[in-house]
Amino acid sequence: MKHEVIVLGAGMVGVGCALHLQALGKNVAMVDRRAPGLETSYGNAGIIQREAIAPYALPRDLRFLLSGAANRRVDVRYHARDAARMLGPLRAYHRNSAPAAYRQIAQEYETLIALSLETHAQLMDAADANHLVAGQGYLMLYRTERELHSFFEVADERALDGVNHIKMSGADVAREEPSLAGSFAGAVRWTDPLAISSPGDLVQAYARLFEQRGGAVHLGDAGTLRRTHAGGWQVDTADGPTLEASEVVVALGPWTTQLTARFGYTAPVIPKRGYHMHYARLPQRPLHRTIIDAENGYVIAPMKDGLRLTTGAELANVDSPRTPIQIDAAEKIARQSFPLGDRVDPEPWMGTRPCMPDMKPVFGAVPGVPGMWCAFGHGHQGFTLGPVTGELLAAMMTGATPRVDVRPFSPGRFR
Ligand SMILES: Cc1cc2nc3c(=O)[nH]c(=O)nc-3n(C[C@H](O)[C@H](O)[C@H](O)COP(=O)(O)OP(=O)(O)OC[C@H]3O[C@@H](n4cnc5c(N)ncnc54)[C@H](O)[C@@H]3O)c2cc1C
Repeated sequence: MKHEVIVLGAGMVGVGCALHLQALGKNVAMVDRRAPGLETSYGNAGIIQREAIAPYALPRDLRFLLSGAANRRVDVRYHARDAARMLGPLRAYHRNSAPAAYRQIAQEYETLIALSLETHAQLMDAADANHLVAGQGYLMLYRTERELHSFFEVADERALDGVNHIKMSGADVAREEPSLAGSFAGAVRWTDPLAISSPGDLVQAYARLFEQRGGAVHLGDAGTLRRTHAGGWQVDTADGPTLEASEVVVALGPWTTQLTARFGYTAPVIPKRGYHMHYARLPQRPLHRTIIDAENGYVIAPMKDGLRLTTGAELANVDSPRTPIQIDAAEKIARQSFPLGDRVDPEPWMGTRPCMPDMKPVFGAVPGVPGMWCAFGHGHQGFTLGPVTGELLAAMMTGATPRVDVRPFSPGRFR
């Protein structure tokens, strides 16, 4: 069956691309080996992070680096053999986290984040998905005065760029979230972000909108992608005909470069895996908002399936064995403060944040491969940035002028 574009991957990024290409008049088919939104876009913390105008840098202080090397932290761990193979990209990540380089990267990153709320709002309205917004804002919770006050400075800096927040004392926190046990120095409540009650359901609502507007969603292995004699693309589906199109968008999240490498394009992805577990709510101790326990590096998010605890980063290849140690470690700390009932899931979920050494997503034409485009590498904020990426890539692919300068995100920067 012929289409103009095949989008490979139906996570938040792929679905964002498919919808925007369709809106610009393209006949699009989407292919995923699973139903839409069942991988990393399903299991994340569900925050549309309007406040994240600076990407997640590698902390450069010696204390962090030493404790990280010991591999006993709750927020960051690693598989030694996998991490050894990532040394080159990790060195580049460290260099890019130095103040001068990071300032420039953050300025570029902000141009995308600034469009995140409005691009989601358009799709949520059209997809009738506003009921999935569980609340506005979330708390960065601090246990020590020193860390709280240094984060107040970060919040004040972001306020200069139009990011809103409220500073909270320990007493404010106790008033707003009386179910928390223990004492806290205080918190920053970011007031712009949206907390989503089920991230996978939001991707699925967007995918349904794509289908209602005439788009085709197929199950199939992107690995079957091949060139046609005419210079276009073919991919097999498991539930229908072989698809053909003149252009293809590879949006396979952490698996993207496995496919593009076959056609000669690769880029240094640093996979940061994360886990989640749901806990039963305790009816007599409700939790109102998503909270990040900032000094311990985990999130507790009230969601459809219970209170979802998501972990920090595990540096390990996407297909290496699962080691959900961080869930156990974070749960132990969280139980002392948060109203967590019994575990709900039979085992922890795992997903992978595809992070780039320069912390910026990668989207645009794949160099040296005519008719191939890609959109991946969204790291810690792909759920936030899927629709923005889709809008900008669709503009590039149809010859329209993207709303922001897309050059900083070009796949060609890794050549
Ligand atoms: C614990 C955790 C918490 C997070 N919290 C947040 C948050 O609060 N806010 C935020 O913005 N971001 C968050 N993120 C990051 C965010 O989830 C990711 O950046 C985002 O989901 C990436 O989307 P994607 O579409 O690129 O990839 P994915 O959602 O992983 O989609 C890739 C798709 O490709 C498909 N695929 C792969 N290989 C093949 C193949 N061979 N054939 C066919 N299909 C294939 C997969 O099935 C999948 O559907 C978090 C991540 C983690 C791990």
